[in-house]
Amino acid sequence: MIVRDRFFINGQWATPSSKEMIEVHNAGTGAVMGKVPAGGEKDINAAVAAAQGALESWSATSAEKRAEYLQKISDGLKARAAEIGSTISQEVGMPIKMSARMQAGLPIANFASYAKLLGSFSFEQKVGNSLVVREPVGVVGAITPWNYPLNQIALKVAPALAAGCTVVLKPSEIAPFNAFILAEVIEQAGLPKGVFNLVTGFGPTAGEALVKHANVDMISFTGSTRAGKRISEIAAQTVKRVALELGGKSASVILEDADLAAAVKTTVSYCYLNSGQTCTALTRMLVPASRYDEAAKLAVDTAKNFTPGDPLLETTRLGPLSSQMQLDRVRDYIKKGVAEGAELLTGGAEQPDGVSGGYFVKPTVFGKVKNSMTIAQEEIFGPVLSIIPYKDEEEAVRIANDTPYGLAGAVWSADEARAQKVARRIRAGQIDINGGAFNMNAPFGGFKQSGHGREAGVYGMEEFLEYKSLQLKA
Ligand code: NAD
Repeated sequence: MIVRDRFFINGQWATPSSKEMIEVHNAGTGAVMGKVPAGGEKDINAAVAAAQGALESWSATSAEKRAEYLQKISDGLKARAAEIGSTISQEVGMPIKMSARMQAGLPIANFASYAKLLGSFSFEQKVGNSLVVREPVGVVGAITPWNYPLNQIALKVAPALAAGCTVVLKPSEIAPFNAFILAEVIEQAGLPKGVFNLVTGFGPTAGEALVKHANVDMISFTGSTRAGKRISEIAAQTVKRVALELGGKSASVILEDADLAAAVKTTVSYCYLNSGQTCTALTRMLVPASRYDEAAKLAVDTAKNFTPGDPLLETTRLGPLSSQMQLDRVRDYIKKGVAEGAELLTGGAEQPDGVSGGYFVKPTVFGKVKNSMTIAQEEIFGPVLSIIPYKDEEEAVRIANDTPYGLAGAVWSADEARAQKVARRIRAGQIDINGGAFNMNAPFGGFKQSGHGREAGVYGMEEFLEYKSLQLKA
């Protein structure tokens, strides 16, 4: 049982203003694995005051010094990588092997990459008689979800600190323990007090207190489109900058000349990554009607390799969902798919065989899905693939774009130029061509209701900078 009963504020482990605690559940067993404090407005106010107090001196530290701290944080996380991987496997349910690589590996790499970036980034530029300087936006409120919890934190905290901002972090109440590990690592790295602060709590209380605070200059949010809309409304009252990384309903467009086996296998694997709890999951697979039967068979065969199992076992490929709420939600969507007339090719809403206790769901594939169906329009956040047949390229592009979201996608074709042409017509922030690999330095973010702003690489740091023009006398 992990009990965390303090916040990290102003460089110290601070007692929360109330005794209310939040129970955190182990995704693989359903049992309570620990507790964190439910912070409120008073705790947020204390954290914001600390961040504000630290801003002037932190923003004046040299880029070299900030890089040193970021590298120390990366090293500190690396030293605790095994603990991070296993903690997140229990909080979220991602199989341990994958968790070590992604949930622990990516944050370590991101902190290090911002340390490196500071070595080459230019904070000033001459434009005519002006010196244009890039300054930190100020105090940043970071609000993060549970699916890749520490990396989503890293993608905000590392570039914000690199830019010279100070931070108040409000992590997900569903997977908060990894954030405490980060706070300990930051404390050990000796970051000046108040530069990084951690308060846990629920969204409508702690989260909203942070969003509405007049001394918070920017909110960087990753989470649901529903919460993103609410945050935008509240943030408008103080005209603060808002960056939103929201949901998705991404299409994998398989053109008729594609290597079907590779395309289907990769699409199913990306759809099921982290049990489908990935914002960029390829959940709609668009296949030419002429190759539908072949594609459907390949998808079912691939899905059958994803046997649900204990996330702490090295051999498990499909872990449970993160919470009871997610489980109920995903099962409801599967039932809705059947009710609306989609063909259930494999899986279903029942409890899978061989597992019990945790939030397990069957890997599911629906065939002959119409894009107007609920399962093709709404983000399910579970291992549920919809196969949508199309008649020609024009229709494929139209279907791919027929969604309120625009986060990611994929295009497959034997002709790379053709694939690129189709990719350019899809309104989404990142599109994999023929299985092109994820690039942690490329901009990450969405079009339409998938949000605005970009994370990762230099693009992610620029989000936390203001421009200032110094008009010089020639
Ligand atoms: P969520 O929106 O319920 O919660 C995310 C965070 O926001 C949590 O810390 C929560 O406490 C807080 N929150 C909730 N309501 C709030 C409010 N009214 N004011 C302030 N804070 C509030 O989302 P979730 O269930 O944790 O995460 C899943 C969602 O996140 C999915 O929709 C997924 O697609 C999205 N997501 C997007 C990306 C991306 O980069 N685009 C990455 C991962 C997850």
